Amino acid sequence: MRRVVCPGSYDPVTNGHLDIISRASRLYDEVVVAVLINISKKSLFTVDERAEMIAEVTKQYGNVVVEKFHGLTVDFCRERDIPVIVRGLRAVSDFDYELQIAQMNHQLAGVETMFMATNPLYSFLSSSLVKEVAQYGGDVSGLVPESVQQRLIRRFSQS
Ligand code: ADP
Repeated sequence: MRRVVCPGSYDPVTNGHLDIISRASRLYDEVVVAVLINISKKSLFTVDERAEMIAEVTKQYGNVVVEKFHGLTVDFCRERDIPVIVRGLRAVSDFDYELQIAQMNHQLAGVETMFMATNPLYSFLSSSLVKEVAQYGGDVSGLVPESVQQRLIRRFSQS
């Protein structure tokens, strides 16, 4: 079975992430979305909430599983015997950093990284920008799935 991992923070999942995950799901037998547990980085949603949102909106693909992880992505890959990481590239600005990580991961564990060019519709889209817009009452429909939009509205109305 050909499996691939899409690692990230997904705080929260956006339509840009979903574009990459859905395209990967057509190329591989199984896509494991690995949600990073990062205790030093402040997130808007807990890792359980982030994983729950992704599971909800990827159900329809049929071959996507969501897992939580901390530590190195290559260790996650090694433990599950997954040889490939897929990362989305939005613009040249993503490239420098992503290239370094990919080379480090290959050096550390022989894990390959496949880069997928984002759909230009989403090349400006990031979780942090979505949060900023939503925080000040901006309309994020079309940028995140409806269920995520509702959670953002609820979260910001509580604070
Ligand atoms: P990280 O904190 O590791 O950058 P993210 O949750 O921001 O994690 O992103 C996870 C993956 O999704 C990365 O490969 C990132 O490049 C990709 N990604 C994020 N936003 C988009 C987008 N708008 N279009 C395509 N890929 C994206």
